[in-house]
Amino acid sequence: MHDCVVVHYGEIGTKGKNRGFFENKLMDNIKKIIDTKIDKQYGRLVLEGNPKNLADLSGVLGIVSFSPAVRTELDIEKIKDKALLLAKENPAGTFAIETKRSNKNFTLDSKQINRIVGEHVAKNTGMKVDLNSPVKKIFIEVSDKECYIYDKKIPGPGGLPVGVSGTVVSLLSGGIDSPVASYLMMKRGCNVVFVHFHNYTSKIEEKIEKLVAVLNKYQYKSKLYMVPFFPIQEKIIEKIPETHRMIVYRRVMMRIAGKIAEKEGAKALVTGDNLAQVASQTLDNLDVIHSASNETVFSPLIGMDKNDIIDIAKNIATYDLSILPYPDCCTYMIAKHPETRAKKEEIESMEKELDIKALVDYGIEKAEVKEISA
Ligand code: ATP
Ligand code: MG
Repeated sequence: MHDCVVVHYGEIGTKGKNRGFFENKLMDNIKKIIDTKIDKQYGRLVLEGNPKNLADLSGVLGIVSFSPAVRTELDIEKIKDKALLLAKENPAGTFAIETKRSNKNFTLDSKQINRIVGEHVAKNTGMKVDLNSPVKKIFIEVSDKECYIYDKKIPGPGGLPVGVSGTVVSLLSGGIDSPVASYLMMKRGCNVVFVHFHNYTSKIEEKIEKLVAVLNKYQYKSKLYMVPFFPIQEKIIEKIPETHRMIVYRRVMMRIAGKIAEKEGAKALVTGDNLAQVASQTLDNLDVIHSASNETVFSPLIGMDKNDIIDIAKNIATYDLSILPYPDCCTYMIAKHPETRAKKEEIESMEKELDIKALVDYGIEKAEVKEISA
């Protein structure tokens, strides 16, 4: 019996003058996956019809909840009838009516509507009203032009619509953390361009492309730079002691990613670093690594617990891909006990032995760029 879908969004509603921009972005993003008319109303979007792929809305960033609904005219008798039909469709022992009235000209207020509709449903179904812990809730929204009635609020991911915050470049390894970091930036409205450094095996290429395909569901169109790192590593291995190689690998990665950010008009780099999780992630090492590029570096996982990161990875369906074994180029030819307290001056003087600019240029020149769309 549903004839529309009521979509609620959260934080967008607090964006003052930018509100229209945020709402339009959310509408554009929804239209990329559901082809239907969307009515933008104060505090809600109303999608026409009962789309088959409704469940896909649960992946649209910015949406707090969505509800398949029935609409009626602004007439209490019609509201009573439709609410009763909806109650009969899925009866339960107890229920409550929860009305929100944004139309202040409607003759009844929300408490009166709750009472009138509640009595009507109780009388005609035998269901009992329970305001404290009802088994079923029937929601009524009274808007300026019509009224929406529904009994399900399906949660969305929340956050902000992808695209409202500009572009960032994310260093995507094949591990658990960096896909989650990328997702969290999307959830704050960023478009993410991905960079992966590989010391070439086709297996890793497949794995990274699959990860990007999963993440692409949140931003609909993605770009992936695959940078061959093996020749760069060979040069680093020649000159840098094995205790410090990982740091230099990562500093060169940051510089290459920084150049890609310039090309892409991106405002920042993103990594999956998590403080003190592995040897490269001590505070000293992160300071030395992140300062290699001129770009601002964001590491949204920096203060999180690993378990919470894993929960998100499972939720966004990157976890199973991430745990597949793969040869990570960061751990190639490094010491068993790498330096955990790198000093910037020391690393900088070691790097003087290398032609860093040539290594960065090589990475940029040889990068393979792939476009992924839904
Ligand atoms: P992850 O789970 O994301 O692999 P990690 O905890 O294993 O992270 P590292 O392997 O030290 O830690 O990597 C730290 C961060 O450096 C990664 O989150 C990622 O942003 C970046 N990084 C490391 N290796 C690569 C790579 N081969 N390509 C792109 N980025 C990388
Ligand atoms: Mg890793």
